[in-house]
Amino acid sequence: MLTQRGQRRGLAFSDLGIEQAAVRCYHCGSGSNIAARALTARCEHCGKNLDIPDLRVKGHHWGGVLLTCGRLLIGRKAEVTCTLAVGSLGADVMGRFSGVLASGGPVTIGPRAVFSGAVWAPSLRIEPGAVVRGGPFAVPSNPLGHIDICGNRTQVPPPPPLVA
Ligand SMILES: [Zn+2]
Repeated sequence: MLTQRGQRRGLAFSDLGIEQAAVRCYHCGSGSNIAARALTARCEHCGKNLDIPDLRVKGHHWGGVLLTCGRLLIGRKAEVTCTLAVGSLGADVMGRFSGVLASGGPVTIGPRAVFSGAVWAPSLRIEPGAVVRGGPFAVPSNPLGHIDICGNRTQVPPPPPLVA
């Protein structure tokens, strides 16, 4: 069905020939449409700034928060110590990770991973061989929009409620 352009409120990205992508805000959990190639964007709902691309950590990372609207990938040789890491779409931990890992999608802890901390996510898969300690694990949960990730970057927020 054809839409009548005159009835629209404004030009959408698609009218301009720019592909758009749907992203989920890691602050409030709401969806926004952004230009597909954008590296940063502002959430349409809470107005906070968002980092869009997948975040791949291959080496050493210490401190603060790691945030992405995409997937969070902790490489096999990576050593990450942080307060909080959030991936809107999911997270894969293949190396060393210490901190709280919150995800809007599935989390996998790989066979050579050494994980110390907590996972808050809709689902969690721990491969045989992984070393996992810590907690509290909130699985299944929907942390996006239910945890305060701004804070002062050194304080771990309270875990999200479990969902059925
Ligand atoms: Zn938001």
